[in-house]
Amino acid sequence: MGTGTKGKSKTPPKKKIPERKCTGCGEKRIKFDLYRIVRSPDGTVSLDTTGKKSGRGAYICKNVSCLKKARKAQRLERNLECEIPDSVYDTLEEELAEHEQ
Ligand SMILES: [Zn+2]
Repeated sequence: MGTGTKGKSKTPPKKKIPERKCTGCGEKRIKFDLYRIVRSPDGTVSLDTTGKKSGRGAYICKNVSCLKKARKAQRLERNLECEIPDSVYDTLEEELAEHEQ
């Protein structure tokens, strides 16, 4: 077995992959290359590595340096429309470092 339908599979229909802008560097990337930072309805700001948390979100590249840029420019606060204390930023940075790719 093994001859016959080998190799070329049908070309899949072109799907447009949604792009999002990183809050840190401002570069556009496909959604899957970014993490979301989410402000949940109760006001908790956390890193969403699954893309499933609900709430207002901002996108960030999967690296700490982008988070630091966003922190410095206070772009996260603006995007999420809330204040983000240093302790939360520190936690986000730690978490992002863990999941860095
Ligand atoms: Zn970035």
